[in-house]
Amino acid sequence: MSTLLEQLHAQADEFIGLRRDIHHHPELAFDEHRTSALVASKLEAWGYEVERGLGGTGVVGRLVRGRGARRLGLRADMDALPIDEATGLAYASSHAGVMHACGHDGHTAMLLAAAHHLAERGRFDGTLNLIFQPAEEGGGGALRMMEDGLFDRYPCDAIFAMHNMPGLPQGRLALREGPAMASSDYATVTLTGIGGHGAMPHRAADPIVAAASIVMALQTVVSRNIDPLQMAVVTVGAIHAGKANNVIPQSAVLEISVRALDREVRGRLEARIKALVAAQAESFGVTAQIDWRPGYAVLVNTPEETAFAREVALELLGADRVTLQAPALPGSEDFAFMLERVPGSYLLIGNGEGDSHGACMVHNPGYDFNDDNVAIGSAYWVLLAERFLRNAA
Ligand SMILES: [Zn+2]
Ligand SMILES: [Zn+2]
Repeated sequence: MSTLLEQLHAQADEFIGLRRDIHHHPELAFDEHRTSALVASKLEAWGYEVERGLGGTGVVGRLVRGRGARRLGLRADMDALPIDEATGLAYASSHAGVMHACGHDGHTAMLLAAAHHLAERGRFDGTLNLIFQPAEEGGGGALRMMEDGLFDRYPCDAIFAMHNMPGLPQGRLALREGPAMASSDYATVTLTGIGGHGAMPHRAADPIVAAASIVMALQTVVSRNIDPLQMAVVTVGAIHAGKANNVIPQSAVLEISVRALDREVRGRLEARIKALVAAQAESFGVTAQIDWRPGYAVLVNTPEETAFAREVALELLGADRVTLQAPALPGSEDFAFMLERVPGSYLLIGNGEGDSHGACMVHNPGYDFNDDNVAIGSAYWVLLAERFLRNAA
């Protein structure tokens, strides 16, 4: 495999330049106009059939070769974060308050580098769909592209995505079969009682006492209703109620965040929280209204596609640079929605460890994508595409 890595090393400078250009011009969710125009123009120049504006600012590039029936999807994300960059780099953000602090600039560059190589000298037989999505950071850009018909217009037999990971040695690939990243849901509970004088509580219905009881009761959902071997989080992150010590307020509001690594656990958390809030509120004579907002789904890597992705990693890098079954992560990722529709796998590429430049955590103002990964990441995509689209049906 050294020849493939050498070939992608040889063209890496161009794509490192592109990565730094994207880093210098970061754009927030659904505002990736410059970035997506850049991606689309490159793909077109290399002979891809390109669709722009899918899910807002998403781009799909399709390349069909031979008569093979297999269809592969590779996905990268393009959005930046609302963070003030503090790296001091020459190519640091030129937009105040916006920064590529999650390495999506690097993900885009790695997939473009692979796109270029595959167009020039890729040996494959079938359909390659390269998906550049907007708004991974909370905006659900993957879902928006799917609602716009992504997989109806570009059917895929399998789909893969890669995210960089600080703390993991540079260039190391880490895979995981099964649930790999958590779901994230949000709820706002509004309790409405009867306001009154603090000295005459019997003439009021106090939403603060009800809220306090609900906060404590919610602690029993994870400890009493969920299998101890399963991961679950229920956090009340905000309580808003009252203004003065002698006034019982009319209402109280709780903000809740909920995470799980299993679809059934996720459903049970929602059911138990809703039931508990309703029963508790009633017992205190106040009414409860719950605004439940589903966030990202549990990300589940399918067995067959993960096994295939592992084989490709081992072929490219050898056993000492591949983690075959990495631990799950409590963070969330909207590639989970694509994996609910199409089998596939999401893997990590080490951004650097220890005191190295790449070890700074994502979402930190000092973070930077490790450019040494452009060649390795793109070589991985090329090899995966060539292996997946090798045997025509
Ligand atoms: Zn992020
Ligand atoms: Zn990210």
